[in-house]
Amino acid sequence: MILRLDRLQTELPPPSNPDPNGAAAVQELLGGKFGEMSTFMNYTYQSFNFRNRQGARPFYDLIASIAAEEFGHIELVSTAINTMLTGTADNDPTGRRGPGDGLAGVRDARNTHHYLAPGGAGAVVQDSMGHPWTGDNVFSSGDLIEDLTHNFFLETGARSGKLRVYEMVEHPAARALTGYLLVRGGVHQVAYARALENLTGANLMRLFPSPRIPTDRIPECQPHIRRGEHLKLYRFSPSDFLEIGAVFNGPHPETGEDLFVAEETHPEGALANDLPPQPSVFAPGPDPAEVREIADKLRSAAGLPRKVTGDVAN
Ligand code: MN
Ligand code: MN
Repeated sequence: MILRLDRLQTELPPPSNPDPNGAAAVQELLGGKFGEMSTFMNYTYQSFNFRNRQGARPFYDLIASIAAEEFGHIELVSTAINTMLTGTADNDPTGRRGPGDGLAGVRDARNTHHYLAPGGAGAVVQDSMGHPWTGDNVFSSGDLIEDLTHNFFLETGARSGKLRVYEMVEHPAARALTGYLLVRGGVHQVAYARALENLTGANLMRLFPSPRIPTDRIPECQPHIRRGEHLKLYRFSPSDFLEIGAVFNGPHPETGEDLFVAEETHPEGALANDLPPQPSVFAPGPDPAEVREIADKLRSAAGLPRKVTGDVAN
């Protein structure tokens, strides 16, 4: 089972310039063939389907732990999309519905599903062309070498996709997102390569860097590299998945630094920004103030504190 924490894995900037078409491009990193839905669901199902778990424990622990991290990545990409969509259909704070206001202003947006069925100015489980993500993107053969080789390939393609989105979309939320994911995806790519090396004796280190992504020259990668996020894996559990260090070890193929398993169970992370209501799409209701009033009454009836619990960045 999964324990859920109400924090993002890394800090993302608050809404700034609304960017509906940038958000449509970022969808590739969510629901594309090489997006986070794919990495998340591939490793999740491989861990569910894993046989002889005790006989191959370090490999099971590795796949299960990376699966847990990928859940946080779909959350991050969705947050970046929601941030970029904020204000796109509500450029007029009164939510007026005249020409050029509200939904009329996004008539030419690349992905109208962000506003029409079913989107409430929110992320959709689609790629950048609006194709829905599908379970056909999941590869779980049961053969450890086959699955690990597939996962190495998937992470390689995912990093390539992140760099392309980084270059295509200048929005600060997209840049912060891709800067972080490029670093973490690099760790996963190395992790699957090391697992294959430890399983077979093949030298995969000679495949690096692939693709040739100069993360040392990408400004948004630097804070994460300085914190050592390019070298460590998390277990996302206080006491389980202890054996990942048996396969995730040795030198980083590009920097020569030692790979290691984090002592902390998960990244420190950051509080999410509380994104404002978008009245033109009734999010979170035709009258956000009324929803708030009902929530206050329910909270009081449930004996909860007057002040809202939970934390947000703003
Ligand atoms: Mn990922
Ligand atoms: Mn990954």
